Amino acid sequence: MQTQIKRIDENSVAEAKEILLSGGVVAIPTETVYGLGGNAFDDTAVQKIFAVKGRPADNPLIAHVHTDYDLSKIIDYDTEIAKKLRAAFLPGPLTLVYPSTGKVSKYVSCGLNTLAVRVPSHAGAQALLKAVNLPVVAPSANLSRHVSPTSAKHVYDDFSGRIPLILDGGEAIGGIESTVCDVSGEVPVILRPGLITKEQIAAVCGDCLVYEHKGEKQVKSPGVLYKHYSPRCETALFTTVAQAVEECERLRQDKRVGILCESKWLDRFVGVVCYDLGKTPEEMATRLYAALRKAEEECDLLIAIKPEQRGGVMDGVLNRLEKACTSKDVAH
Ligand code: AMP
Ligand code: MG
Repeated sequence: MQTQIKRIDENSVAEAKEILLSGGVVAIPTETVYGLGGNAFDDTAVQKIFAVKGRPADNPLIAHVHTDYDLSKIIDYDTEIAKKLRAAFLPGPLTLVYPSTGKVSKYVSCGLNTLAVRVPSHAGAQALLKAVNLPVVAPSANLSRHVSPTSAKHVYDDFSGRIPLILDGGEAIGGIESTVCDVSGEVPVILRPGLITKEQIAAVCGDCLVYEHKGEKQVKSPGVLYKHYSPRCETALFTTVAQAVEECERLRQDKRVGILCESKWLDRFVGVVCYDLGKTPEEMATRLYAALRKAEEECDLLIAIKPEQRGGVMDGVLNRLEKACTSKDVAH
């Protein structure tokens, strides 16, 4: 199969619609990362997504819908906190987990009685969702465990020859996946941190909890358990710049070493390639995945330093960085 990359416009949206309605999968741009889309009502399409990605069968998918989509077709009941969060943040990088009607394919939620729904703000994604008038499941368009894609080229690098079409909507500016938040109860519970922060959610709902997996069997969001976002080179994540400098000096004669860090540490490293995460948490979110993909092409070992800020969008950035890179802190 030949994989085509087409700029997202009326013609390519029409082509993507045909593919989705006949049970195929298409890569689509969103404001967070690129997704691998399929019709959420179609068992075969949903299974195809798991197969193409090599995704574990117990890691549920998010259904993406147009802003005007009638949610009552797919969710069992609405809640006060869900209404407030939709009004405040949607369309945008926030996925809400509702009690499901069970009408979408049984493979979407992997046996959970909930359904995760997102309304992306990307104009191209909205155009496609309007054209199909269906919920489209769209996990990140990367091979399972690999780094999520923020450009059409990243998608091509993982899926060339395996999917028919990639809709190119430019760089994904958000850069990390949506915040996933359970809204089935009275208090919102964040299952995965992202660009909409717990502080923002608490400001709208009065409170916000963050789910932590403490080893219990029934996991609320199976995706939190998996190793994710990993570049194909060796990685070493440090908390302090001093440790990173020491490791770099120790190994840079023998290996192609790269450094991934916030801007302020760059001048501490000489003679090695550096990937600049920038200064603000938002900048770091936007740049992280592209930097990890570049590093795997250019380095044998990527030494990363945890940014110093905490809270807000940085919770999401740190969550991804810690899953992508092997922690080398002595204290760990
Ligand atoms: P991805 O599409 O690769 O960004 O991953 C989807 C994320 O959403 C994973 O972390 C899943 O665990 C989570 N998710 C999807 N559906 C549900 C659900 N019904 N309940 C809880 N978490 C979900
Ligand atoms: Mg993913």
